[in-house]
Amino acid sequence: MKVFFIGAGPGDPELITIKGKNILASSGYCIYTGSLINPEILTYCRNDTKKYDSSSMSLGEILSVMEEANVQNEDVARVHTGDPSIYGAIQEQMTELDKRGIPYEIVPGVSSFLAAAAALKQELTLPGVSQTVVITRIEGRTPVPAAESLENLAKTKATLCIFLSIKQINKIVEILKSEYGNTCPAAIVYKASWKDEKVIISSLENIAEEAKRAQIVKTAMIVVGKVLCKDFEYSQLYDKQFTHEYRNKSS
Ligand code: SAH
Repeated sequence: MKVFFIGAGPGDPELITIKGKNILASSGYCIYTGSLINPEILTYCRNDTKKYDSSSMSLGEILSVMEEANVQNEDVARVHTGDPSIYGAIQEQMTELDKRGIPYEIVPGVSSFLAAAAALKQELTLPGVSQTVVITRIEGRTPVPAAESLENLAKTKATLCIFLSIKQINKIVEILKSEYGNTCPAAIVYKASWKDEKVIISSLENIAEEAKRAQIVKTAMIVVGKVLCKDFEYSQLYDKQFTHEYRNKSS
């Protein structure tokens, strides 16, 4: 018996890993984040799998289901949206499983910031522009350490992928304008990889207005950075003059 923390991916049911899908197909129990995952993912479960939507459960209730599965010697597919390691609240589940001696494993998934980059047809790390991607959020009920405030992160001028913060888009724009500039491109991807995905590409000064017009208030990724200008140096990786382990000058 094992608890598998599985990344369901960003929405498109084909964006779960083969490993994740196989575990869903064999587990007797499935606990899923009903508020965010695509319910189509659940069709990969066994017909007799016991299914629980964790969005209405407490940590204690989730653990009780895992304990029951342990007694029954059945695997648990614990399905989280995107990748479980990003804002997944899995650490406390694992700590509690350790206390109970219940084994677990993590099966990674495609995070929504990667699905957003795909929707934008955008490389997030362009030579000469930015070689760093910052994954962050604005403070909500969960506090953000002062050292990681958006004001501080803005000083890096790196590519920003901002989760869980679309409702505070006005505040984000105000904070970022001084470092990134009014005309810096900014994008919002609503429900990346879902059938009703929406993509908005604009400038920092206009993005909040456009998000309002499109009535986007949840499940959205905010991407800000000069990489979206597509004005960059070509990578040295495929440059004829650039030799590396797999290609020397003579080849
Ligand atoms: N573990 C998840 C993130 C969970 S936090 C992951 O790796 O993607 C939930 C936040 O993720 C949402 O508020 C939103 O900012 C973002 N998100 C999740 N799915 C998304 C999607 N399909 N498109 C855009 N943003 C998404």
